[in-house]
Amino acid sequence: MVGWQNGMRIGELCLAHRGVLVLDECLEFSRQSLETLRVPLESGRVEVPQKKEWDMGQPACFTLIAASNSCPCGVLGDDFKKCNCRISEIHSYQKRMSEALLDRFEMRTHVFQEASSVYSGRSSIEVRENIHRARERMRSRQNGKLNHSLSLEELMQASWWSKEAKSLFASYKNEKKLGFRAFLAIGRLARTIADLEDKKILSETHLSEAAHYRIPWRWPMQKEQ
Ligand SMILES: [Zn+2]
Repeated sequence: MVGWQNGMRIGELCLAHRGVLVLDECLEFSRQSLETLRVPLESGRVEVPQKKEWDMGQPACFTLIAASNSCPCGVLGDDFKKCNCRISEIHSYQKRMSEALLDRFEMRTHVFQEASSVYSGRSSIEVRENIHRARERMRSRQNGKLNHSLSLEELMQASWWSKEAKSLFASYKNEKKLGFRAFLAIGRLARTIADLEDKKILSETHLSEAAHYRIPWRWPMQKEQ
């Protein structure tokens, strides 16, 4: 994914610059390959220090979307099928993604099989237009910056917070399991949810929804196993 290993070739991380990188079945990638995502997800650049030409790094700022099964056979968590994987197999499968990399995902969710294939929500065009309007709101409020690049200080200054939301956000800071990266990510995501709803004031509801996306990603083991 980093590229360069077989001559002058740019990898997928750079090719996805200013776009979206989708990793389907991401746990089929080796742990070593997945770990190469950590630096660009933080810095927006790929660095290969042993190559002089790359000393300055190459731009690799992208939105990462990754999906995986919860176990090797793919049915752990399914209400209607029984997973036949051993616990050790599930553990080693899920551990292909490190905690450090997982911490860089701002939204995580379990996706269940839909009972019906009929989708009655908004169209893709409506969703795209809503996102476009939300991004314009961010830029005009924050001197051209999008929410994901705000520091904590900027986030607190740029946004209007309800009294309850401020208090709830402060309580997250004392949450032992939540590192600073996760704490800041929740604040930024809550601001984005409010922008998508065209709400100037960030509320408790926006924060709670954002915190919900920090759910433990690893699927709980079935007791009978
Ligand atoms: Zn399984």
